[in-house]
Amino acid sequence: MGMLDGQTAVVTGGARGIGFAIAQKFAAEGAKIVIGDLDQAATEAAAKELGGTAVVCDVTVQDQVDALLSRAVDTCGSLDILVNNAGITRDATMRTMTEEQFDQVIAVHLKGCWNGTKLASLIMRSQKRGSIVNISSISGKTGMIGQTNYSAAKAGIVGLTKAAAKEMAHHGVRVNAIQPGLIRSAMTEALPADKWAEKLADIPMGRAGEPEEVAKVALFYASDLSSYMTGTVAEVTGGRLI
Ligand code: NDP
Repeated sequence: MGMLDGQTAVVTGGARGIGFAIAQKFAAEGAKIVIGDLDQAATEAAAKELGGTAVVCDVTVQDQVDALLSRAVDTCGSLDILVNNAGITRDATMRTMTEEQFDQVIAVHLKGCWNGTKLASLIMRSQKRGSIVNISSISGKTGMIGQTNYSAAKAGIVGLTKAAAKEMAHHGVRVNAIQPGLIRSAMTEALPADKWAEKLADIPMGRAGEPEEVAKVALFYASDLSSYMTGTVAEVTGGRLI
């Protein structure tokens, strides 16, 4: 028996990277998967691999998030788990960062996460159960040079998570956040070698994490293993910046 048998899980940005690893882990535990992502071909390929449903969705557009969650309910019968994972980076120091780069990152991470949390809460409160997992970042705990946009958005996700957790607890809906550190994905493969080495030197466990290692913590939050936890933040960093 899987830990998520009979449950429906929506993962935004689930076509690749950490989101795909989470969707894969949930599917292996028996969940019906709905992937919402930007690129149609990649979203369909990912969903097909997991026997799930693909929905093209830009998390910054509330109507599209609404359509994504409605599709999960219509196709699978319920919405039990939402992982707000979609993300981008537009790194630059403040001297060169444009207003557009700031706005884009806030829109995808913070507004996208709010769109998902708000709309999933409406469905889950009527079911009287549900688990929302928001993917923040260790950059939101510490603040990183070149990431005034990303660090602000990821710290904002922690505040959003705690406020939503308090609002939703008595409806049986839990809301928690994960702060990954340096995880191998397309997002971090774009880092120059010296930046990668600099980050690695900061990690007590001496290595980067794998998407699967974030997925295991997402499973913990999504499942009854964390039934008495809400409004919490788990650092998945190999001990970095503790
Ligand atoms: P990837 O870039 O590999 O994957 C991100 C996914 O999100 C892509 O499929 C991307 O689509 C999708 N996406 C981007 N914008 C939107 C949007 N507006 N609506 C829907 N989907 C969108 O990144 P990771 O897997 O590394 O990151 C996943 C999450 O984990 C992010 O929130 C990231 O900030 C966070 N994180 C990652 C860390 C790491 O070290 N990798 C560390 C800490 C946090 P497309 O490819 O078409 O752009």
